[in-house]
Amino acid sequence: MRNVILLGPPGAGKGTQAKRLEEARGMVQLSTGDMLRAARTSGTEMGRKVAEVMERGQLVTDEIVIGLIEERLQAGAPGGFIFDGFPRTLKQADALGALLARQGMKLDAVIELVVDDAALVGRIVKRAEEAQAAGQPVRRDDTPEVFEVRLREYYKSTAPLIGYYWAKGDLVQIDGMAEMTVVARAIASVLDRA
Ligand code: AMP
Repeated sequence: MRNVILLGPPGAGKGTQAKRLEEARGMVQLSTGDMLRAARTSGTEMGRKVAEVMERGQLVTDEIVIGLIEERLQAGAPGGFIFDGFPRTLKQADALGALLARQGMKLDAVIELVVDDAALVGRIVKRAEEAQAAGQPVRRDDTPEVFEVRLREYYKSTAPLIGYYWAKGDLVQIDGMAEMTVVARAIASVLDRA
């Protein structure tokens, strides 16, 4: 079993790579962004508040996302979990460590997708255009304006996790600007030796 975190700014390709790992290795993707988008449509008061925060590009509270992850971890995943978009703060990282330990699990690797910020906004715009062309829902936070806020949130709250996991000896950095299949191979080789 392999439990890995995919770390990187919005648009780095975490979701794309997580989906490939699900298909190729029977792992389970835990995307807090996907879970929150689902909760948003639930029509509850919590859903409404979450929707507002997400549309502004800010982070929802640690308590909410930790609760979502806790629920999913209990179901287990024989092929391992891929954490995508979680943890995003040091508090979430500590909570994840504690939750895994409680279930007798551990993290095997933290894979940082290293990308060029200037290229990211182009990827986000492309993602919105492709979704539109395919008749799929376009994310309301995939606009250049909201993207700026999301990138700033990443540097302020999430980038400190790079040092946090490096100090634990868990961090592996790979080139997220390479072609999708090349990135996938690099991730596979990390998983094979983790
Ligand atoms: P994502 O799909 O990972 O880009 O997440 C979309 C949005 O959901 C983010 O901009 C945040 O508003 C919220 N979100 C997702 N994951 C987290 C998290 N771990 N902590 C706080 N907010 C989150």
